[in-house]
This record gives sequence, structure tokens and C-alpha cells, in this order.
Amino acid sequence: MVVIGAGALGLSAALHCALAGRSVVVAERLAAGSQASGRAAGLFKSVQADELRTWLARRSIAKAISFADWAGVPLQVARSGGFLIARTARHRAFLARELAQSRGWGADVREAGGAQVAGRLGYYRAAGEQFALWCPEDIYIDEPGALLRAYLLACRRHGVVVAEHEPVVGIPVAGGQVAGVETAARQITAPVVIDAAGGWVRQVAGLAGAAVPVAPVRHQLLITEPVPEIDPGDPITRVVDAAVYLRPSRGGLMVGGFEHDPLPVDPRQQPPSFTTDDVPLDLGVLRRLAAQINLEAPAAGTAAVAEHRGGLFTMSPDGRFVAGPVPALPGLWVVSGCNGSGFSSSPALGEALATWITTGTPPPGVQALSPARFGPLSDDTLITRGRWQYARYYDPAPDQAEPAGIPSPAQSDRPG
Ligand SMILES: Cc1cc2nc3c(=O)[nH]c(=O)nc-3n(C[C@H](O)[C@H](O)[C@H](O)COP(=O)(O)OP(=O)(O)OC[C@H]3O[C@@H](n4cnc5c(N)ncnc54)[C@H](O)[C@@H]3O)c2cc1C
Repeated sequence: MVVIGAGALGLSAALHCALAGRSVVVAERLAAGSQASGRAAGLFKSVQADELRTWLARRSIAKAISFADWAGVPLQVARSGGFLIARTARHRAFLARELAQSRGWGADVREAGGAQVAGRLGYYRAAGEQFALWCPEDIYIDEPGALLRAYLLACRRHGVVVAEHEPVVGIPVAGGQVAGVETAARQITAPVVIDAAGGWVRQVAGLAGAAVPVAPVRHQLLITEPVPEIDPGDPITRVVDAAVYLRPSRGGLMVGGFEHDPLPVDPRQQPPSFTTDDVPLDLGVLRRLAAQINLEAPAAGTAAVAEHRGGLFTMSPDGRFVAGPVPALPGLWVVSGCNGSGFSSSPALGEALATWITTGTPPPGVQALSPARFGPLSDDTLITRGRWQYARYYDPAPDQAEPAGIPSPAQSDRPG
């Protein structure tokens, strides 16, 4: 089989297919892991908006921690835990709901008092009323390249051929079935092709005349210069009413967040040479987000910036992954719709897709991620929905009506 794209999702799918005994080639247009995956904050979050995502997130955390055991390659993981903090009544109610739900779905989440937050966090000080949850299962990978290197090494050890700087330029279809791929260098015959092209997933699917319902949207973060009060052992903090996340990084603070008016970027409308390096960055967005927590974590908004990076999320209309067989085109599969969690969900999502492809049956509940759940959607609808999902990343409780037209996730989407 051929996987198009060597980001976290493509490499994980390739590795799990190889572990299931398949012969796999990964064709990557640039360097492996150089696009969205290589820019990620590296955060794994155990509290999620529904049971299926909770299951995928927690299984991914378990697989990241035990990476050496199943993939045969060491991977360093910061088992920091994380706080979720709310400073408004509405967000407090939202976190209280998340606490009850997540516990019901098996996650270890506990209410945390002010003394516990103050005792564990050096870079954040409560400045007023707040409600906090402690999520001991949360982890992060300090530099995202570490996970990508581990995937790459494991892929190669298990016989996967990763062809870098080899863009896929065609997906031939014979008798209504995908027949392989055409790269800039050669033809590769294969009955199964996985489109894992991240921000380019739509134009890659388009090579076979297929459509994938996602809209790429910019996301950014910064890392400050080293700051004395930042203890590298401190946990992750997510301030949900400000839609900001923080964690220690390189002696400084990593600061990222979700603005209410995110920028859609469509690589199809860019020159063919477009890469993540061409995504326009805007430090003002991060400064405005950080200003909301300037009393609690002043370093987030004032410390000198050592690195500012960004890339594309692939947002789906319902905020859930898009993974499974592409309708009406046997042989073509997709793994996308990262919705900002593709890095951290890649271990379990790649595993689930590989199970589906190699056994013919998805793990329980995973069928709900199939791209077939959507009918045809215009680009305008995809962008409207994608921006809405992005703006409510930590807080899906709408303070304004959700755009019409897309059904909510079915209650029956229960993982086993
Ligand atoms: C700043 C930032 C912070 C983030 N933080 C987090 C986080 O903390 N936790 C989390 O879970 N997620 C995070 N994300 C999201 C995460 O990075 C993505 O969900 C994930 O990387 C998606 O992986 P991917 O494999 O789909 O995409 P990518 O990593 O972009 O990989 C797709 C690959 O496909 C290749 N490709 C494209 N077209 C072709 C072609 N024609 N032929 C061959 N190859 C092709 C591309 O070159 C690319 O390498 C963050 C994203 C950003 C931008």
C-alpha cells in the first residue's frame, strides 16, 4: 500500500499497517515531519468532548508512554499532568460538565483546589476566583520532532519505505478502483492508498476525483526566551475561558491559543511551491490571547520571544477526525480532520485506521469518523464550520448558535 504524506498521521498509519504485516511505501513531498506535525506544541489532552475522542486520546497517551514496547524505539515523554482552569461562571459550569463526562468515560480527572494549583505551578498565579481540574494523565512531547523521528525509525525497522522529496502527482483509477500512485519519479502500483497529506489532503484526494470535507485554518504558538520562574517540571496549563495553553519549553514558556476569528488558508489557492513556511504569522494574535492572562502568567505576554511558529489545522465540520474509506472510490482511504489534535491522537488513530484496512472492520465506534458521514459541502460551508470549531476548541458550549446544516455526533458513536 502507499501512504501519501509523512506527517504524524501518515507515519503512524504506515507503521501500524507494517506491524500488521503489510508492505508499505510512504511518499512525502518534502522532508518527513516537516509540516504541521513538526510545528506542534506536543500536547496530549485526556479530557475530550466525546467518548470516542476520549478513548482515542487516552489510548494515544498510553501508546506514547509505551512506544518502545510496541514500536521498538525509545520515545521520551514528559508525564507532567495538566490543569484546566476556568475564571468565569460559564466556563466553570463547562469544566464541571467535562469533569463528570470524562470520569464517566474512564479518564482520571479531579477537581483541584487553589493550594494545589499554586503548589504545582510556578509560572501561573491565580488572580481571582477560579475553578481548576487536575488531569494527571496529560503528557507532552517536548520537541515534536522526537515523535516524528521515533515513527520514522520504527517505520524503517519494520520495513516501511519512506520516500522523501517525492511528491505524489497522480492517483490512477482503473475499473472504478484506485490502482496506486504516480510520483514525480515513478509509478507505484498498490490496491490501497491512504491520503494523509495534512493541509494538502483535498488536492491529493482531488487527484483521484474525490473530495475530503476539511478546511485548513492557521494555528500559531510562541516560545519565550528562558524565564527564571519557569520550572521545567511544571505541568501544562489550559485557561479555557481565554482559550490559551501554556507549558514549559526550553527554559521559557510555550504559549498558544485559539482566537475567535482564525485565518483560513487554502493551499489550493496558493502557488504549487506553498509549504508551511509560507503560512503568514501574526504575533499580534498571540499577544492578544496572552493579554487575557497577564495577571496570572505575565511572562506569556511580556517575555522576549525566542521562537514563533505556525501551520495549518485541518478542521472538519463537526470537529471530529475524518478517517476511513473515501466514498465511491474503493482503495482510497483518508486520515485527516486533525482539528488541532492530530499529533497527539496519531498513535491510536493510525492504529485504528490500520485495523480497519487490514481486517476490514474498524474498532468499535471508529466507523463514526468515516468521511461518508458528510454529504457534499461547499467550500464556504467548510470554512464557516471549520472556523467555528476552531474558535471553540476548549469550549464547545456555544455562546452563539452553531452554524446550521451539520448533524451533531450521534449518541451511538461509542467506542468499545
Ligand atoms: C502550531 C501548531 C501547534 C499544534 N499543537 C498540537 C498539539 O499540541 N497537539 C496535537 O495533537 N496537535 C497539535 N497540532 C496539530 C497537529 O500538528 C496536526 O494535527 C498534525 O500534525 C496533522 O498531521 P498530518 O500528518 O495530517 O499533517 P502534516 O504533518 O502536515 O503531514 C502531511 C504531509 O503530507 C505531505 N504532502 C502534502 N502533499 C503531498 C503530496 N502531493 N505528495 C506527498 N506528500 C504530500 C506534506 O508535505 C506533509 O509532510 C498543532 C499544529 C500547529 C500548526
